[in-house]
Amino acid sequence: MLVIQKFGGSSVGKPERIRRVAKRVVDTKRQGNDVVVVVSAMGDTTDELLELMYKVTDNPPKREMDMLLSTGEQISISLLSMAINDLGEKVKSLTGAQVGIRTDNVHTKARIVDVDRDRMQKELAGGNILVVAGFQGINDANDITTLGRGGSDTTAVALAAALNADVCEIFTDVDGVYTTDPRVVPEARKLNTITYDEMLELAHLGAQVLHPRSVECAKIYGIPIHVRSSFNHNPGTLVKEVENMEKAMVVTGVAHDINVARIGLFDVPDKPGIAWQIFRSLAGENINVDMIIQSAMRDDINDISFTVGRTDLRKTLEIVEKIKDEVNIKSYSHDEDVAKVSIVGAGMVTNPGVASLMFEALAQESINLEMISTSEIKISCIVKSTQAEKAVRALHKKFNLDQEQPCDCCS
Ligand code: ADP
Ligand code: ASP
Ligand code: MG
Repeated sequence: MLVIQKFGGSSVGKPERIRRVAKRVVDTKRQGNDVVVVVSAMGDTTDELLELMYKVTDNPPKREMDMLLSTGEQISISLLSMAINDLGEKVKSLTGAQVGIRTDNVHTKARIVDVDRDRMQKELAGGNILVVAGFQGINDANDITTLGRGGSDTTAVALAAALNADVCEIFTDVDGVYTTDPRVVPEARKLNTITYDEMLELAHLGAQVLHPRSVECAKIYGIPIHVRSSFNHNPGTLVKEVENMEKAMVVTGVAHDINVARIGLFDVPDKPGIAWQIFRSLAGENINVDMIIQSAMRDDINDISFTVGRTDLRKTLEIVEKIKDEVNIKSYSHDEDVAKVSIVGAGMVTNPGVASLMFEALAQESINLEMISTSEIKISCIVKSTQAEKAVRALHKKFNLDQEQPCDCCS
């Protein structure tokens, strides 16, 4: 079998953890498998590099940010390879560029467009364990790019797809995917399985445990992901295609995201092309706009509110300031102290009343809803960031997610 194993930052955060991971990788190899390992930077290295950067400048060019951030993974691949070598196995560490992980040109949130199999296949045929740097690739100009925070998961799934691997295991610091972040709700339950679509929503809505692009890629190429703990051998959560819609839970999980900022545009003319003008300018700078609400028109004037990632706020405000006169926006405001709280479940589409239960749970906690958006399998609300965790706990309880669900145990 060909096995891809990805180990996150906490799993390789200390020297003894690196040695423990090496042992696990070598055990997998000695069971007769070919093994490709993907690793993240050690512990909080990426955050520390960012901190260091902001001590030098407030205005880093994105190309140079990628050059800096990609170094974290280079440390962990070399150290893990040394530890594997100590255990007597042939091993090679490879950067994204050496593997031939090609990405587009969007520095700091690049998307993988192609992976070269040749080098990896040659090294595997030579009996090597491969240790590949997660989170990084190269663009057409051979410049280093990174895939966005948490992007090593996506490297692992992309390698699994390119090599047609039998298994893609994501090892992390929790036992699998839970009904919500177990750090916020200790009663959260581990799910045995979850569908790609539900996991994709949860990941997009802030459940850190998998990078959204990794789930997208796994769904496209039909790769089951096994999320499990690097600290024990318990079975984790299998992320895969839905097998029986009948079994779908109404609500599978609750997620929250504090990387959110809300922008309000006031007294905007109500005529065709205005929304296009505004959001085209943001898209041109690769800013992802999430929720958009246009309030009811009065006297040919609208208000438009939207959310972006907090890290994109500064750039967004620069763009709004630039287009303000051209679009005839009278004034604008922003709020960084907001968070998005969401419920996700494939069974929602056939069960009326889920939204009202959600709003009831939040009302009972006196939590005000600033924006609401829905899709077939999720409902999201923007709330004050100080109330986000309280909201998650209230929703987890309201939908009885702390109790064993018949659908999960028989799936
Ligand atoms: P790694 O460094 O291994 O990539 P991350 O910190 O990126 O690990 O992701 C694991 C963390 O995700 C967990 O420690 C947990 O606090 C958080 N998390 C958020 N939502 C969930 C969820 N629904 N299930 C499991 N973990 C979650
Ligand atoms: N080291 C990167 C980060 O901290 C990538 C990852 O961990 O997946 O975001
Ligand atoms: Mg992660």
